[in-house]
Amino acid sequence: MRGMRALSDIMEEFGRLSGLQLNRKKSRVYFSSRCTQQEERAFALGVDRGELPVKYLGDPLTVNYAREQDCHSLVDFAQRRVEGWQAAGLSFGGRIELVRSVIAGITMFWFQSIQIPTATIRKVEAICADFIWRGGMHAISWDQLCRPREEGGVGLRTLHAVRKAACEKMAWRFIKGGSLWADWMANRYLRRNNFWACRIDNNFSVTFKAILRCRPVLQTAICRNMKDGTTTDLWLDPWVGSRSLLEILGGQLDREAGRGLTCSRIIREGVWRPETYPYTTQLAEEIRLVTIDESQQADSWSWAGPGTGGGSGLFCFRSCYDLVRSHHNRTEEMDFIWGKGVARKMQLCAYRLLRGRLMTRDRLLRFGIQITDAKCVLCNEEDESMGHIFFVCPVSWHIWTEQCSQLRGGVGTDRDIRSILNWIRDHSGRDPGWARRARVRLAASVWHIWKERNRRIFEGLTTPPIGILHSIEFDVSVMAP
Ligand SMILES: [Zn+2]
Repeated sequence: MRGMRALSDIMEEFGRLSGLQLNRKKSRVYFSSRCTQQEERAFALGVDRGELPVKYLGDPLTVNYAREQDCHSLVDFAQRRVEGWQAAGLSFGGRIELVRSVIAGITMFWFQSIQIPTATIRKVEAICADFIWRGGMHAISWDQLCRPREEGGVGLRTLHAVRKAACEKMAWRFIKGGSLWADWMANRYLRRNNFWACRIDNNFSVTFKAILRCRPVLQTAICRNMKDGTTTDLWLDPWVGSRSLLEILGGQLDREAGRGLTCSRIIREGVWRPETYPYTTQLAEEIRLVTIDESQQADSWSWAGPGTGGGSGLFCFRSCYDLVRSHHNRTEEMDFIWGKGVARKMQLCAYRLLRGRLMTRDRLLRFGIQITDAKCVLCNEEDESMGHIFFVCPVSWHIWTEQCSQLRGGVGTDRDIRSILNWIRDHSGRDPGWARRARVRLAASVWHIWKERNRRIFEGLTTPPIGILHSIEFDVSVMAP
């Protein structure tokens, strides 16, 4: 109790000297679990007792692993965003864009400060995926949607990779230094140890352990700007082609003898003198390739991750994400679908067709969904399938051959989207303009055929082929004038 009174007095005194009065209504006191009589103590101080972890703008502040129950507000955030009034009636493309913005919001705020538990990540991703598929069956898995477009996805980001990238960013901020946080962390945990050689200790905080685990990836994405060499550790810092001399020379090195030496030891009058240490000739050559600039500036790190093209050297989240995400084969067809000049809704429809994931009647039946009629609503002759409805059905084939006559490039005889894409590629020759127009016509045809199919099924309305052709012509004139 005496301690509480002393604390209260200190706050009073602080208020008297600084003019900053403690607002007891807005304050909370937090006790450790070992502290008994918490209620009385809080009462003595005149403020309410708070529950750990402390929350700042809804985000739990903790030095330990955040638990799933601490991150409820993140799940609520995602839920509220996708359930908002603007989400009602969004198209497939609109829902994807909304999910993209939800993930961007989470990335900017939550992932920059704490280690989000995997269980929470799964929950948020499940909310997003359910929203995209309107709570129904997921025609394309979340992981596949989260690939870049040219690798068969729609360019969303997985939160697992976002979490890794955010952690790399924190490690980057740490090695860059120049902030109170970085100085404090270095003093607290690193002291005289080198960041790259420091062993992970159980006494380190969760954050610092996470930072140290980022080193292997970080090392591949940064490069050392050598100035006078006085702050670069000769053996331990990765400064020769993103590797350290310790890594390159390994066992040949007497670690104790080289302790604490900096690169400035082998720079004389602005020139490398690697021969003062026993390097192999090839290594000495590599060292000479590192430029020295003995101005007043200190050595520093710059970001040279993928896609930055050795530009500004500033951290780039996109580049970092690219480094930590999983990679898949690029497909030429996907490049073709996402090419410029085609409306997003049409790109997405062609994307789903190319992936074989449009919900045609044969698929609905296969998934056990009861429907009364399996016939194609365009011709009423054959059963509806993706293979039939777009280019085999006489109605859609008529629409596509009309497009081909507009293109003046002949008609491909194959009747599926993959072959037609190949046909366009083979016939584009030296005329990229023709290929672009062909792509636009293909995407518009696919979209209008699918739209007509849906109108016939869900609205009971029928447009004759000439009307569909008019609509296609109008869209083409907008996209490829
Ligand atoms: Zn048909």
